[in-house]
Amino acid sequence: MREVGVVRGGHVLTMGPAGDLADGAVAFAGGEVLAVGPYAEVAARFPGAEVVGDDRGVVLPGLVNAHTHLSEALIPGMGEDLSLLEWLAAIVTPAGRHLTREMARVGAMLKGAELLLSGVTCVNDMFCHTNGGSLASLGAVDGLEAMGLRGLVAFGAEDADDPVPVATVLAEHRALAERCAASDLVGFRLGVGTVLGQTDELLAASAAEAKANGWAVHTHLAEVKEEVVQARLRWGVTTVGRADAVGLLEVPLLAAHCIWVRQGEIAELARAGVGVVHNPVANMILASGVCPVPVLRAAGIPVGLGTDGAASNDSQNMLEAVKAAALLQKVARLDPTALTAGDVLAMATLEGARALGLDDRVGSLEPGKRADLVRLRGDRPGLANVHDPWQQVVYCTSPADVADVWVDGVRRVADGRLVGHDLAALVEASRAPAAELVARAGLGDHSRLAGGAAAGDAAVAGRPGGAVSPGPARRR
Ligand SMILES: [Zn+2]
Repeated sequence: MREVGVVRGGHVLTMGPAGDLADGAVAFAGGEVLAVGPYAEVAARFPGAEVVGDDRGVVLPGLVNAHTHLSEALIPGMGEDLSLLEWLAAIVTPAGRHLTREMARVGAMLKGAELLLSGVTCVNDMFCHTNGGSLASLGAVDGLEAMGLRGLVAFGAEDADDPVPVATVLAEHRALAERCAASDLVGFRLGVGTVLGQTDELLAASAAEAKANGWAVHTHLAEVKEEVVQARLRWGVTTVGRADAVGLLEVPLLAAHCIWVRQGEIAELARAGVGVVHNPVANMILASGVCPVPVLRAAGIPVGLGTDGAASNDSQNMLEAVKAAALLQKVARLDPTALTAGDVLAMATLEGARALGLDDRVGSLEPGKRADLVRLRGDRPGLANVHDPWQQVVYCTSPADVADVWVDGVRRVADGRLVGHDLAALVEASRAPAAELVARAGLGDHSRLAGGAAAGDAAVAGRPGGAVSPGPARRR
């Protein structure tokens, strides 16, 4: 007989048909949710089951971080004064030339810990690097598996600035797909870093490869205004138009950002069944713009929430991203109803899972789904007096309120601490590879980022008072 676990909370926000249950509980066994209902009923049905939680706090589905880059795990805290294209040229691209699979594993474990401790159970990662032939993206799967996280990993290939043979890129997609196929919890998507960042040759090959293999695709789309302008100069159409022209709208497509999209393009994305991921904190740090989230959702597009990368956020605190998503829409539209707590919690759970094509398994607490869930504690100030669990989860909590996390029925966080990993040891293990990466990429000398003589890989200056060079010429 399978051992049954029961998780109880003062409120269970199921995100499913059962809605919000006061003094509710979830029972699961073998990684599968068996029952969701009032605690008294669940306890009577499963007598003798271990019960975690009490009639305080809030239980909800594990959060779905629908867009991040674990490839940035070791390089946070650089370039807050750069816009996206400058930041990519100055920091991310140089680092990407030197990433190894081992660095990827260590970084994914470090940030995996941060994700779990902020209530995340499912991660959609786009691992970006231009270290051709290194197969570094496979390290993200190694790291996510080691932490027991569910997820998807894509290799966010680009070759326009850093030439890499198309065959080398395709070989890494195939190797990553094979690595994911051997994983119980981590799946694969073909990554297109950006439409603009790929040569026409690689973009055509990527679309063809996705179609031939039936692979879903993950990309960035319409993130900054410069992207749209450069695409129009290069092809005479926007990046949405270009994605359509090469056939990327004919495969299941998940597009991060979609900030600079026109009304007609929104309708086209909806018709094509594209999922979108909104990343409010990264959009604010890089001053990219405000995603028209209410318009996209009104058009029927599932919009998930992401932290975005560990160097463009610069944390993996998903609860912060959830709160920021609501606040950004309210202030941008000067309308407190623009995006509610219920909206953003849906986006961080079931809607995000739908955008990823995983809503048959996760995103809500329903019998038959996988047991990914989070218990927020009721013995801290945030949820001391719950008048509205939706608003208080969004506006009152932080990772300090995350008591317990289960992924596929396995407890990964217990009473606020990682299970099976020593957090301090993960931090320590990241120090040497982070220092090595920074040194190899030439990122350690901040005076160069501040406008001093560019040398090595750090070719863009952007701090106040420093001349901004355009960085490596974008090869078309
Ligand atoms: Zn991103």
